[in-house]
Amino acid sequence: MFSFGTEIYRLNDFDREMIQCPLCAEQSVFVHTQISYFQISDVPIYAKGKHIVPQCRSCNSQFRDANFPEIEQLIKTVDEEVKKPWWLYLGTIVYPAAILVALLYWLSIQ
Ligand SMILES: [Zn+2]
Repeated sequence: MFSFGTEIYRLNDFDREMIQCPLCAEQSVFVHTQISYFQISDVPIYAKGKHIVPQCRSCNSQFRDANFPEIEQLIKTVDEEVKKPWWLYLGTIVYPAAILVALLYWLSIQ
C-alpha cells in the first residue's frame, strides 16, 4: 500500500539524567531526542530535523525554549553529539536502484 509523509524516530541515547534542573535543583534533567524524516511506503527518504527537548524527571518541566544557560549548553552539546542515522536516507538508494532494475528489465524484454 502506497503512503508517504513525515514520521518521527525517537532516539534514546540521552535518557540518562545529565544536569541539574534550574527549577527544582534536582540532578534529573534528561533529553528527548527525536528526528523527523520523510518516508514513502515506510521507506525513509531523508531526515528532516532534530528535536531536542530537555525535561526534568523530578518536576516534569520541559525546556523547549532554552531560557537557562545550562539548558542551552545541554541542547547544543546533544545537537553536536547526535548524528542522524544513515538508514533514514535509505530510500535515496533503494528507490533509484529499483527504478534502474525495472528499466534494465524493461530494456531486456524489448
Ligand atoms: Zn525539575
